[in-house]
Amino acid sequence: MSGTLRNDCFALPPGVDWTPVNEALDRLTKALDTVAQVETVPILDALGRVLAENVVALRSHPAHRNSAVDGYAVAFEDDARRFDLLDGVAAAGRPFEGDLQTGSAVRIFTGAKVPEGTDAVILQEEAKEADRVVSIDAPAKQGANIRSIGEDTLAGDVVLSKGTRLSERGQALAISTGVARVACFKPLTVGVLSTGDELAMTGSSTEDYQVFDANRPMLRAVLQRWGYTVRDLGQVSDDANHVEALLRDAIQTCDAILTSGGASAGDEDHISSVLGQFADRHTWRIAVKPGRPLALANWDGVPIFGLPGNPIAAYVCTLIFARPALRILQGLTVRAPQGFDLPAGFSKSKKHGRSEYPRARVTGAGKVELFRSEGSGRVSGLEWADGLVELPHQGMDIAEGDLVHYIPFTSFD
Ligand code: AMP
Ligand code: MG
Repeated sequence: MSGTLRNDCFALPPGVDWTPVNEALDRLTKALDTVAQVETVPILDALGRVLAENVVALRSHPAHRNSAVDGYAVAFEDDARRFDLLDGVAAAGRPFEGDLQTGSAVRIFTGAKVPEGTDAVILQEEAKEADRVVSIDAPAKQGANIRSIGEDTLAGDVVLSKGTRLSERGQALAISTGVARVACFKPLTVGVLSTGDELAMTGSSTEDYQVFDANRPMLRAVLQRWGYTVRDLGQVSDDANHVEALLRDAIQTCDAILTSGGASAGDEDHISSVLGQFADRHTWRIAVKPGRPLALANWDGVPIFGLPGNPIAAYVCTLIFARPALRILQGLTVRAPQGFDLPAGFSKSKKHGRSEYPRARVTGAGKVELFRSEGSGRVSGLEWADGLVELPHQGMDIAEGDLVHYIPFTSFD
């Protein structure tokens, strides 16, 4: 099941200038394939894992006709209202031994297998029992209060789909149909690297021209939440030899790598130049704000996503582009994150020719408000926001009250 990536998988057709987001996503998803390995594991150990095959019910649920209530199992003809009560009971896990003949009843409890011959179960509250006779006011309906075999799931049904993550709900479903082991993809190992001469370690003493490395912990956290094994590659200065040595080593142990900083085409953009020299690198100029060129490279089969250094751009590009790309590599199905059309609590004129993802949150009145600044260096805006608004490629004038597409950050999980 583990594939390999075409060498030039990130190549763009000649003459492409600014690529619209939808087209970029389309190209990205077509360029990539699942590379994760498959292993079979006990379903109890598979919570949160990505299913590598459809999960098929091994037996029906329920596997036996059973009672939905506490009461009396009865066998009848026509409109019978009186039944002779037999000795013994039917309880969950302790079936009644023997069949039920027409005109007789047996005490039964929820979940118990109904005796052979049972036509219905009478609810305890609707029956009177006296002198070994069970009587009812209105005739019972055929099949009443009986759960039939397979009414939930039938043996052979696909109960869980390949490419989905096993939740506790899915686990409960599969277990109820007798499944004990499932084929899963092994989690990808994703490397995270920060680049730039200006970067300082968290909490270190700094010169004022230095910048604390905020991207690496942020990317590490989001990747961990997405179920990947994260390999922290640390930070590297703007030195081509160092960048090369580090990445050369990292591709031996990572299935994919996210870098931040140095991804443009300037003299100090060493990620871009090293990838251009040693890997099959393509610079995607995606028409997106926040963003800037994304450097996409395939180094000996390991995809490397060169994200912009600005924390906002790095984060948004991770959510919008790296997320679906990693999902494909991991074997997860790709779906657009769930968003909601909500009234704008702002007005804005947006020019044609690029998509925008301003930081946003929802007010108590259910309107979407935007952070006061769109600057991609404003980390405070990330913390302020609960999600993003997706403004499409076309130009538009948004007035207060117009519907805009809001995507909570949680929808990217
Ligand atoms: P670059 O993409 O390398 O041109 O960097 C763009 C901006 O992002 C610069 O202001 C950098 O100082 C800043 N930056 C780069 N990497 C990081 C990082 N890991 N954490 C915080 N800011 C960063
Ligand atoms: Mg830089």
